[in-house]
Order: sequence, then C-alpha cells, then structure tokens
Amino acid sequence: MARIGLTGLGTMGAALALNMADRGHQVAVHNRTAARAHEFIEGAGPLAERLTAAEDFKALAAALDRPRAVILMVPAGAPVDQTIEALLPHLDKGDLIIDAGNADFNETRRREAALAVQGVDFIGMGVSGGEEGARHGPSIMVGGPAESYEPIRDIIESIAATYQDSPCAAHLGPDGAGHFVKTVHNGIEYADMQLIAETYGILRAGGQTPAHIGELFEEWNRGPLHSYLIEISGRALQTADPDTGEPMVDVILDRAGQKGTGRWTLIEALKLGQSATTIEAAVAARSWSSMKEVRVAAEEILPGAADALHPVLDTDLECALLAARIIAYGQGFSLMQAASDHFEWSLDLARVAEIWRAGCIIRSALLDDIAKEVRDGLPHGLLILAPYFAKALGDHVPALRRVVSAAVSAGLPVPALAAALGYHDTMRRGRGTTDLIQAQRDFFGRHGFERVDREGSFSADWN
Ligand code: NDP
Repeated sequence: MARIGLTGLGTMGAALALNMADRGHQVAVHNRTAARAHEFIEGAGPLAERLTAAEDFKALAAALDRPRAVILMVPAGAPVDQTIEALLPHLDKGDLIIDAGNADFNETRRREAALAVQGVDFIGMGVSGGEEGARHGPSIMVGGPAESYEPIRDIIESIAATYQDSPCAAHLGPDGAGHFVKTVHNGIEYADMQLIAETYGILRAGGQTPAHIGELFEEWNRGPLHSYLIEISGRALQTADPDTGEPMVDVILDRAGQKGTGRWTLIEALKLGQSATTIEAAVAARSWSSMKEVRVAAEEILPGAADALHPVLDTDLECALLAARIIAYGQGFSLMQAASDHFEWSLDLARVAEIWRAGCIIRSALLDDIAKEVRDGLPHGLLILAPYFAKALGDHVPALRRVVSAAVSAGLPVPALAAALGYHDTMRRGRGTTDLIQAQRDFFGRHGFERVDREGSFSADWN
C-alpha cells in the first residue's frame, strides 16, 4: 500500500512523485492519460519499486493507506475542479486532497469549504522551484486546517529544500494562506525578472555583449545580489545557439507568456487597497511584450526624441538593482501583511522569508536579511523602513536615480525600476500632492476634504 497518491504526472507532478519515492515513501500515481503513468514508472529506474500506477481513481483509492492523501498537480482552474469531482466518489470521510498546483486562493477557500461539507479535508499547497526544485527540494507553502496537514507533514518536510538543516516547508495559515503566499511569491518573481531584464537592456544599449553581461551577472552573484535568478540570467546570457552560433538570447523572440499568478497578485493587491507597483509594471511589461507586431509598427510611427545613453557605471546598475529588488520584496510583504490582517491568517512573515531562502525561484541572499528584520518587527509595518533596509536604500537609491534618469533620457523602457523609485519617493515624503487631488474631487463631486489646521470634514465654494 502507498502512503500518498498523486495525480497529474506532468512536469511538476512527475518530479514531485520521484522526489517522494527518493525519500523512501511509497507513492501511488495516476494520470488523466493513463499510459503516461506506466511510462513514468518504466522510466523511474530503481525508484520504480516505490511507485504504483493506478489506471483510474478507483484503483488509486484502493492503493492508498487510510485515511487517504492525494496530491493534485494539474493546471489551475477547471482541471482542479474536474479532478476533484472525479476523485471524490472514491474517497471517504477523513481523507485528504492536497492541491499542489498554483491556484487562485479564492478558489482554494471555496474548495475547502465545499469539501468540508462532505467530510473530506482540503489543503492548498504552493510549490516553488520549477522542475528541478520539485525533483530535488522545492520551497513549500501550506495552507488549510493545521490538523489536516499533520498526517502528511513528515512527507512534505522530507521532500522540501533545506536551509541550514531547516526544511523550507511550513504550514502558514488556514484556508487559502498557502496559495496566497505562493501567488505573491510569483508576483515578486515577475518583478525581479523584469528588473533584471531592464538592467540587461541598459547594458545592451551601452554596447555590451550578452556574454559580457553574463560574466558581470556572475560577478554580481558573488555579492549582495546573490540569487537564483541572477545566476540563471548570467548563465543564459553566456549560452550560444547551437544552430547559428549567435547568443541564445538574440535568437529568442521577445514575447513572454504568463499563466496568471502575476495578475492574481495585482487583483488581490487592489482589492486590499494595496500598491504593488513594481509587480504591476512587470505584469504590464509581459502583456506589452506579447504585442510584438504592434511594437514593430510603432517603431516607425513613434520615433520620439531621445538622447544618446549617458554612460552608466556597472556598479550603479548593481546598486540600482539591489534597491529596486528590496522595494519589490517590500511591496510583496506589505501585501501579505494586508491579506493576513483581512483574512485573519496570522501569517508569520519571517517564516515565509525563511522558507523562501532555498528551493524556490526567488531564493536570494536578501531573504535571510528580510527574515531577521521581520522577526525584529517592521517600523510602521514596512520592510523598507527596517533599519537594515533603510540604510541599504540610503546607500543605493542614488544609483537607482542615476540609472532611471539615464534610461528615461535615452528612451529606454524601465517601467519596473521607475515604479520602484516612484514608490520609494512617494513613501519618503510626509506631505505629497494629494491636496490637489482632494481639491479636484471636491470641485467636481463635492466629496469633501480634511484640513491641516482643524478637525472635521469640509467643502469649498470653488466658484
Ligand atoms: P504540465 O502541463 O506539465 O502537466 C499537466 C498535468 O495535468 C498532466 O499530467 C495532465 O494530464 C494533467 N491535466 C491537464 N488538464 C487536466 C484535466 N482537465 N483533468 C485532469 N488532468 C489534467 O503542467 P505542470 O506540471 O507544469 O503544472 C502543474 C501545476 O503546477 C500547475 O498548477 C502549475 O501552475 C504549477 N506549477 C508549475 C511550475 C513549473 O515550473 N512548471 C512551478 C510551480 C507550479 P495529461 O497527461 O492527460 O495531459
């Protein structure tokens, strides 16, 4: 008999199943296209003895110890509901379904409530690290009833990445907390990728070759920017296309896809009255990237007037990227805090930072500092005001200003770097320009305003 089942042997599901088998667990596997389950086990080598293929959900249920635990690793949305619907008749009260794919946390909340009525437990579990992480140690963000997680905790912790011997897996809160945190993780991932790409764009405009920029990123990866995304960017930039001998990046079409987690982050941020502008800029940049034909045509129609790019120091770019990265993380952490307050999750944000230190796509040197600062308590709830980060921003924002100025003057798009700077500069002013916004609102709609010198609500006679 198997301790755990898994359905959905795609990229992530197959890697997770192998990881569990590798850690000594017996796993029953199922796939919508049943032949794939058999092929999977045939290709599993010595791990095959810990894997059992189930033709259908009846066989999967029969292969599992009770109470049963079944991991779903299928695409978000309708496939998850369809899989639950087909699996449910073969489960009993007290069994557990774990959705380990990316999911809109609102759907996770709905599913948990609907399954609870039937006596079946449900856990929404975010898994980060791509295929390699899933196979050898991802970062795992668990949400749902703590008591439902307990029976599988040892399995999940055994397959997770470790940071200084501590597993990068944690139960973060009830219902959708795990999927929400995974969504924001991906939002930060969007922002960080875009910030790196914009920095690369400035270096390219300055005449540097991809290979040289790759070497520079390698060097940066040995400093405070140390992170998986800088590492793989450096490696990608130093890769040549085997067919043409050209740099690989030069033969790749500049059009990126997105599956929804970046967008979900923004939707939830807006619903919670939050700002995640660095993430928003990154999501926008991906959307604009998909308008390839329009951009090619617009090159002729909107030639614009731009100066030649002023030389930008590599050290300025390194500092600018670090400052913008801190701000992007800060916006993500503010969003998680707002959700935690709103949904009463009591999220331990220091623990979130800790389980992101290894295994996940945004793992970076910064996360250890974030974990320490969050544990010490954030002034006014903002990461950018924590002593360590306030000092780092004081040191590095001047470089961010120089980089954004140079790019803007030269007509180079830097929406995420500029968004990070805009947020920083808005937050550092005790008095902004919303006095005029309030005047405008009162002018056209009699919305009223507060005064600086008296309590109460006022309206002016504008005519
Ligand atoms: P794949 O496309 O590689 O695999 C999808 C799997 O889901 C296949 O086993 C497929 O079965 C099955 N499936 C698809 N549609 C249905 C359906 N309607 N009913 C039942 N089964 C279905 O996806 P991934 O492994 O990349 O992604 C799985 C989940 O993991 C997604 O939620 C994704 O967002 C998430 N994720 C992916 C990461 C990645 O790097 N790829 C990283 C982190 C999370 P069949 O063989 O029959 O087509």
